[in-house]
Amino acid sequence: MTTNDPTRQTLAQLGADSPDKVATLFSELRAAFDRDAAQDIASIDLGITRVKWQGRKSGILSEITEHWLKPASKEVKPAVGQNLNALKSHIEERIARLTAEKDAAGEQSAAARDKIDLSLPGIERAIGTRHLIRQTYDELLRIFTAIGFSVVAGPEIETPYYNFEALNIPEHHPARDNMDTFYIAGARGGHLLRTHTSPMQIRTMEKQKPPVRIVVPGKVYRRDNPDATHGYMFHQIEGLAVDTDITFCDFKGTVDYFAREFLGPKTKTRLRPSYFPFTEPSAEVDATCHVCGGTGCRVCKQSGWIELFGAGMVNPAVYGFVGYDPEKYSGFAFGMGVDRLAMMKYGVTEVPLLFQNDVRFLKQFP
Ligand SMILES: [Zn+2]
Repeated sequence: MTTNDPTRQTLAQLGADSPDKVATLFSELRAAFDRDAAQDIASIDLGITRVKWQGRKSGILSEITEHWLKPASKEVKPAVGQNLNALKSHIEERIARLTAEKDAAGEQSAAARDKIDLSLPGIERAIGTRHLIRQTYDELLRIFTAIGFSVVAGPEIETPYYNFEALNIPEHHPARDNMDTFYIAGARGGHLLRTHTSPMQIRTMEKQKPPVRIVVPGKVYRRDNPDATHGYMFHQIEGLAVDTDITFCDFKGTVDYFAREFLGPKTKTRLRPSYFPFTEPSAEVDATCHVCGGTGCRVCKQSGWIELFGAGMVNPAVYGFVGYDPEKYSGFAFGMGVDRLAMMKYGVTEVPLLFQNDVRFLKQFP
């Protein structure tokens, strides 16, 4: 506001010497206020408008009270008072209405901001799947628990006694070399990472008299060089059945049952002689190829057969370590590579895929 500002001059200075002229001045002010108040409700700053018109110190209403009303002559004073009151209430009403509109608009825009637009495409959250290894474990455990095997688990850190000796693998036995064991440096008693789940055969038989029917899922460790078909950690499932009259026929029957359940009802098996210190006789179990049915294909390398796992009748020497009478008891044992079975069944060609947890891979096995 400049000194030329009419609100800072007296009515005498403005030459308003009649009620009519006073009324004209007020109507000009009212028009000025109406222009201020006519701004878009979203952009109007009511704080500034209030201070400009109603501010106690230098608001226009205060200024004209000071400069117009107080020094007004008797002739115009009643007109000034009347017009001033009318302008005051006009401004008050208008600002009150604008404040209410502004609040409502603010609420609306806040509501618009928070509103959920159901037509927008959603943000897809990736849902995990059960890992292929877990699925395979579940399937294997289902197959064996259905015929009376119970599931036991044991330590991954073992002693040489459980991992080797009690399984008929004495020190300097060549079978120890095949297993490329991870020994734990400085561990008392020479602890190691188990190279197979077979130690749980011994731990179970130590605690339990026959009949024993267990499967042992778990991780095992070997110092292989990791490549497409080997890692240094893999998953096994061990099986053991011991009772008074278990024969090789029971063994073969269980193997056949497993192969049909796991690979399909038409699957046939064959046993190839093999060697493991803890079974006698020992066998490699083959099954007819689940892809070609035995006629030969890329998966079975045209042989019609695929290698499933190693197994055999429990070596009577093992019973000596757990106090079972080898004249009275007999049984069979098997050890399956779960990773290998999963890869074979689901056509996975690279071991690392099983451990990278790439969702694009895992999603293929929902
Ligand atoms: Zn085949």
